Parts: sequence; structure tokens; C-alpha cells
Amino acid sequence: MDPRRATASETAEKTLSMEGPGVILETRRDGLAFLIFDRPHDKVNLLTTPVVAVLEILIDQAAHDKNVRGLVVMSAKPASFIAGADVNEIRALQSIQEAEQASRKGQRLFNAIERLPFPVVAAINGTCLGGGTELVLSCHFRIVADDPRVEIGLPEVRLGIMPGWGGTQRLPRLVGIGPGLDMILTGRSASAKRAVTIGLADDKAPPETLLEAAEKLVMDAAEGRCRPRRRLQDSVLARVNPIFQVRLAVASQIARRNLRARVNETHYPAPYRALEAVIHGLRHGMDAGLQREAELLGPLAAGRTSKNLVSIFLMQRAARRDPGVDDPAIRPREVRATAVIGAGVMGGGIAQALARSGLPVRLKDIDPGALSRGMRHAHEVYREETRKGRLTRRECSQMLARIQPTLEYTGLRRCDVVIEAVVESLAIKHKVLREVEAVVPEGFIFATNTSSLPIDAVGKEARRPEDVVGLHFFNPVHKMPLVEVIRGPHTSQEAVATAVALAKRIGKTPVVVGDAPGFLVNRILMTYLGEALVMLEEGAMIEEIDRVMLDFGMPMGPLALLDQIGVDVANHVAGVLSEAFRDRAPRSTALQILKDKGWLGRKTGQGFYLYPDGPDDGGAAGPVAGGDGPGARAHPPRRARRSEGPPRDVNEAVYGLISARPRHHLDAGPTETRLVLPMINEAARCLETGIVANPPRVDLAMVLGTGFPPFRGGLLRHADALGLTAVVQGLEALAGRHGPRFLATRLLLEMAREGRAFFEKD
Ligand code: NAD
Repeated sequence: MDPRRATASETAEKTLSMEGPGVILETRRDGLAFLIFDRPHDKVNLLTTPVVAVLEILIDQAAHDKNVRGLVVMSAKPASFIAGADVNEIRALQSIQEAEQASRKGQRLFNAIERLPFPVVAAINGTCLGGGTELVLSCHFRIVADDPRVEIGLPEVRLGIMPGWGGTQRLPRLVGIGPGLDMILTGRSASAKRAVTIGLADDKAPPETLLEAAEKLVMDAAEGRCRPRRRLQDSVLARVNPIFQVRLAVASQIARRNLRARVNETHYPAPYRALEAVIHGLRHGMDAGLQREAELLGPLAAGRTSKNLVSIFLMQRAARRDPGVDDPAIRPREVRATAVIGAGVMGGGIAQALARSGLPVRLKDIDPGALSRGMRHAHEVYREETRKGRLTRRECSQMLARIQPTLEYTGLRRCDVVIEAVVESLAIKHKVLREVEAVVPEGFIFATNTSSLPIDAVGKEARRPEDVVGLHFFNPVHKMPLVEVIRGPHTSQEAVATAVALAKRIGKTPVVVGDAPGFLVNRILMTYLGEALVMLEEGAMIEEIDRVMLDFGMPMGPLALLDQIGVDVANHVAGVLSEAFRDRAPRSTALQILKDKGWLGRKTGQGFYLYPDGPDDGGAAGPVAGGDGPGARAHPPRRARRSEGPPRDVNEAVYGLISARPRHHLDAGPTETRLVLPMINEAARCLETGIVANPPRVDLAMVLGTGFPPFRGGLLRHADALGLTAVVQGLEALAGRHGPRFLATRLLLEMAREGRAFFEKD
């Protein structure tokens, strides 16, 4: 039992509890009551419907108990307070009315807590999110554990909804309009330190004495020695004050402008509605604000965007729990030390990610310059995190010290995993493998970060081909959350499980895929990029092609993305894929022509666009995922840094160079269809041939690996939304017009004929 709970129970006069959901009320002889959350058989507490039902009763009991002088709200879980509502319940909300009612029910409960006739203190010992935060906002005081695991936030907009249990009203009143809007509109949470700074928490205390501090606070309040603090007063007088009205109008305008720069309202309406609820409440008072909050939440919670974002959240959670192999008896090997061979763009990033998770890394290259660039890159990433307050200086230097650069194969003997990220040449990768085998005893996993070579070919000459696995990171490694774990025909289940566990340990989301050219993400993406190039050669304009896909919700258009990936890199992958899939690869020579000209995209300052700031100093970036999201990135990217910003000027000389036919304007609808349907077709082929196990893995990989619009739920969910019959008809029409590369694959034809979909309806 949790020691804090023991403290409360020892002298408990009575305990009111209901079997099951995991919340009890204990009242001590001295009149201090404890509302204790402890969801059975789970590491986290959730505000499920049964918990809310029990809470209503307990709060009512407490309100009528004349002996109670104060209440402490706490969790018996270590480092976890309340993680919010049950996401499955949010997903199950079908109608606007149902969602509105759920909102009003929660609002009534939290109003009841706020109106309790004695002081209520929340003792926040860890994760406190969504409904958990709305609950603590209804308490009169909050005290937080001084623990890095504390995070308090309202991440609802990341799930396409908004706080609906009073959060849009109570947070800005407590912390002020600016900090309140910042948290509600971005979904960003606050650390213990920040919570105290902005007034979200009244104080912090060491985790061991949190409960004592909460008891003292509640007693002080009961005896009138302290009073609740609020940044904004909710009186009519304060509201009608013209200065306040002007401040409110300005804050609203700024918030809307910032939102517009970051989030497309049509794609992601939630933060816009949340802003409306906040401003309405501050202008017209708490009751009107709560009313508006419930009204605005209804359509969001019942709408498609939220269903899609919630499904991505659930897919991501499932991926985190997925061991990557079917046999539960297969366990990942223990990984204590690692090595990365090749300190280039990818190797430097991978070493940085490994060291960040606490693993020692030997970083080996043949070029001293590459080693120092790799180390500098890691340092820059950690320094940036330190600047943002996510790491302390000490942690930053500890991480850096874990990376040992070397030109020799020294210190590799004890490595359990060796990741190779040398140049994309089979001969060099074989050479490296032989060299590693000569120094590391048997029993290590050799993971290759190849982007186009078959894992089977890389592992063919290995002493133990079963220990060779693909670990395909995306560029830039510190930003891209996806890792493809590639199972070659000889790769053992144990090696797959170890690679999956390692990817998770360094904070990435692994998706296990089969060994075929382009694996999963690049293979699907290349159909799309290749088709964009064909359209360009037919006379379409660069910015128009890109504009259509930006409007569709991609984080950047296909031609800007090619510039970002690097024309040479893309040309290489396109070459491998055209060779492998001759029957359907879109034929374009544009990449080769640009490559010969030396216009490699952002890294050379010139590609399909011009980059007036000159060549990129950080190396080209690969497919880019969206920015803020429901853990799974729900919104388009945040404002990019200078070197990552959207390109401004088209490189007009490209048209002459690739002798495009006379230029014409595009129709958005047919363009989108022509670019998106081939991706669906290719994804269906990957499912058909077992390259990927199921539709959720495709969707997760596409969202995390390419930034496929999260609000659409993923590529195959989008296919379902279009209807598979319409998808097949669209492909047939395209095949008639542009050639057999568009012919629908067998799986799509079958599914359309049988009226099936990739996902069950939610
Ligand atoms: P890079 O050219 O930036 O780095 C390769 C590094 O390997 C260089 O520093 C080079 O000195 C070093 N090297 C060459 N031979 C070596 C040897 N025998 N021993 C040790 N080091 C050696 O290349 P990169 O972009 O980092 O790509 C590395 C691998 O990752 C390739 O297989 C590539 O296909 C793959 N990949 C690249 C990207 C990308 O976007 N750049 C994305 C995913 C995967």
C-alpha cells in the first residue's frame, strides 16, 4: 500500500468506498478527509463513467458531513495522478447531444467540488491531464510534487476536442488569459516548476512530503490563514471594466492570429472552438462560459476529425504495447551497450537518440571530420532541449559523455546492438559487418539503417544472418517519431523483438514491416512523389501541385518534400523502386536531370524551389511528420525555423530544364485523386503481400513517417472515408487516362466487390 494512503487510513474514522472503479473517501477523526484515486489493476487513474458516478456520491456525502473540515484529493499510484477521461469513452460518443450531456455532467460534478463548504487541496504527484486537470482546477488549492514526472495539462485539442468539464473557464481565471490560452490551444502541459510560476499550483513540495504539505495547506485554509488565488476575478464589475474588455479583445485577436499561422481551421477546428469558449466565458461570466463550452464540445466530440485523431492516439498506444512478435515466449535481448557505425546525417542522429535514453554508444567512422560533425549535432540537439527546459545542463553533459567517438573498432566488444549507418553501398555494408564480426563476440544484433537495400542481402554474408535486422530511422532522427523494423527472411523473432524494444526505449514508435524494396513508407510515398513529377513534366506548375496537397493537409507539397529529402537521395530510392516495380513505377527523368545539374534541393540552395538563405547547414530532412499532435501529432507543423521554413520562390528554370510541355492550371479535385489513390493502391499491395500486418500499422507509419494528415486518420482510413468502390472506380478512370500503372490491386477489387472496409466503423 502507498505510504501516503497508510497515513490517511491509520486514523481513519470511516471510509466510504464503492467496489470497483477505484476512488474512495476516507475521513479522519480530526475532520480531514481524503479522496483517494486508485484504479485497480492499472498504473494510471482515469475518470471513467463509473468513477464519475461514484465521485458524485462521495462528493455529495462529504458536502453533507458536518465533521469534515477539509479535503485532500490525491492518488495512490506512484508518480501518476489522473491521466484524464477514458479515450475509448470519448470515441464512443456518437451524437452531439450525447457529448453535450457528458460535458454538462462533468461540469456539474466539478461545480459541486468547487462549492464544497470546506477547503479542498489537490496533491498532484505525477501525470495530471485532461479531466484530471479540470478536477484539480475545481479544487481551491493545488500543491505539486517537485518531481520531473509531474505534468499538468489540457491536451484535448490534440484529440480534436476541447476541455469540456470547465477547463476552458477555470484555467484562464486561475493563471491569466495568456498562459491559459497557451495551454488550452496548444495542448502543451506544464512541469511542476512552470505550474508554480504561472500560478497553476500554489506551491511545490518534495514527493516524500507532498501529503504532509497538502494537509498543512488544507488546515491553514480551514483556519483562515490562506485564501485561494485567482489571476482574474469573475465579478460583473470586473467584466464590464473597459480596460479588461480591451485586454480581452487584444488577447483574443493575438491568439487567433497565432492559431491561424499554425493550424488550419477547416482541418482542426478544436482550438478555434476552445478559444471561442474561453473568450465567451470571460466576457459573459462563468455560467455562460460553461454553457458555451458544452455547446461547442458537442459537435467536436461527435465529429469525424476527433474520431480520426483518437484512433491515431489508440494506434500509437497499441504500437507502444506491441512486442513486434506474435509469440509471447520470445523475449527481447537485454541491451546494455551499443555502437553506431557511420557518423553521418543518420548515424549522428541515431547515436544522439541512443545516448539520450541512457545507453552508452561507441560512434565509429573512418572520417574524423564526420565524427566531430556527429558529436556537434548531438550537442546541438541536447543544447536546444536544455534551452527549452526539457533537460538540465547536467543531463545534457551526461548524455554527451555517453557517446564515445572513435576511428578504431575499440570498445565495441561489449556491444549488444551495432547499428550501421554507413553509405548506401552493399559492398561497404558487407565490409563493415565483417569488421564488426571480427571484434565483437557472437550474440550481438546487427541492425542496418539502409533505406533501399534488402536486409536479406545485407545479412547474407553474416556469421549469424538471424541476428541481422533492419532499423530504418527517418531524417532528422531527433524529430521523426517513426522507425521501421524490417524482418528479413532469415531474421530471428528475437532480433525483431530486440529491435522493437530498443526503438521504444529511445522514444520512437516502431512498425514491423517485411523485407521488400522501399519497405513500407518509402514505397508508398514514392508512388505519390513520382506521380507529382510526371504531372510536372506534363506541364503542371510546381506551386500548384504543392498547393493542392497542402490543402489536402500534407505538411508540405510533394515537390517541396523532394527538395527537403534531397534530389539525389530521392533519385536513388526512385531508381531502386522503378527497377523493382517496373509495371507501375511512374516514369520521370526530372530527378536525374536536376541531380546532373547539381540542384539537389534545400541542401544546395536550389531544387524545385530557390532557397535564398543558401544551402541548409543541418543536412537534408526526410519525410516530415506533423508538429503538435495527440501524442501522435495532430496538427500541421509548428512554425518552422529559418532553415526549415516553407520555400518561397519556385525555381522557374526547372521548367525549361525538364522541357515540360506548355504550362496549364490544375483542377484541385482530379490532382488530389491522382496523387492520393496510387498511395492507397500501393498500401493495399503491401497488405496483400504481407509486407505489413494490418491497416492500423499502415496508417500509423504514414502519419508518423510522412505527416499524412492526422485529421484524416491515416491513408487507409481516408480510403474508407472515400469508399473503396469509389477508390476502385477512381483508379480505373486514371488507368484509362494515364496508363495501367493505376490499375487497382486484387485486394482493393475484392474488398470493393464485397462492400468491405479497412476499419470497422467507429
Ligand atoms: P552520410 O553520407 O551522411 O554518412 C555516412 C557516413 O558513413 C559518413 O560519415 C562516412 O564517413 C561513413 N563511412 C563510410 N564508410 C565507412 C566505414 N567503412 N566505416 C565507418 N564509417 C564509414 O549518409 P547518411 O545519409 O547518414 O546515410 C547513412 C545510411 O542511412 C545509408 O544507408 C542511407 O541509405 C540510410 N538512410 C539515410 C536517410 C537520409 O535521409 N539521409 C534516411 C534513412 C536512411
